[in-house]
Amino acid sequence: MIEFKDLSLVYPNGHQGLKDVNVKINDGEFVVIVGLSGAGKSTFIRSINRLVTPTEGELKVDDDNILDYKSRGLRDLRTKVGMIFQSYNLVKRNNVFKNVLAGRLGHTGTFRSVFNLFSQDDKALAYESLQRVNIDDKIYSRADQLSGGQQQRVSIARVLTQKPKYILADEPVASLDPPTSHQVMTYLRKINKEDGITTIVNLHFIDMAMEYADRIIGMRSGEVVFDGPVSEVTEET
Ligand code: ADP
Ligand code: ADP
Repeated sequence: MIEFKDLSLVYPNGHQGLKDVNVKINDGEFVVIVGLSGAGKSTFIRSINRLVTPTEGELKVDDDNILDYKSRGLRDLRTKVGMIFQSYNLVKRNNVFKNVLAGRLGHTGTFRSVFNLFSQDDKALAYESLQRVNIDDKIYSRADQLSGGQQQRVSIARVLTQKPKYILADEPVASLDPPTSHQVMTYLRKINKEDGITTIVNLHFIDMAMEYADRIIGMRSGEVVFDGPVSEVTEET
């Protein structure tokens, strides 16, 4: 479970990223956050794996206040909470398999990760993850030779290989055309259903949010202005 309690974040330049946010996200949910650019969607998502650090309030992941975490705690948190980015964040020159194996880094320990020593189980898991998003045929292609949609599927395979409890996706389809966006959202939704991974996605477009979410959180100026099931979203929201 993820719990925001009176959570605020003010950036050093004075911009309010989050303002008094109170939200509880239960295990297994598929939540979509919507709002205009600058509404705080990214700050909300990035707080959960501490890519940014809220300045007031409490943020609990599985009953632990993650605002107290130092290096070791952060590493474990980021292993438990997988992340998907708008720009895929693959290592361009590495092949797909190596990129996906990187999902195991949090599990293998520093020594093994430095030398890229992965077990047979790690490799099997990486391959199986590629199969689940139908991109196993590109296993030895260099990441930068793939289309945007293919790269985003590789990044989903990487996060699956990580075996996270939570997946955060920060504008995962903002760089993709509509058919490819739907394909990526369909995979995220399918993984949430099959594996029970709690998933939180930021989207620009309410139409797409309505199509895939169970629950929608609407943000404006760092504040949560709507939080409810898709069926409760009305014209004015
Ligand atoms: P988005 O709207 O998709 O969150 P932006 O284009 O606003 O993306 O921001 C891109 C990057 O710049 C992000 O990493 C964000 O944290 C950072 N950023 C956004 N606004 C500011 C700002 N006013 N000052 C410094 N960095 C910013
Ligand atoms: P969204 O994801 O909805 O576009 P953000 O969370 O990126 O919104 O931004 C919320 C507010 O925080 C905006 O006013 C933005 O300019 C500001 N902001 C975001 N990232 C940074 C940053 N790294 N430094 C300073 N201000 C930022």
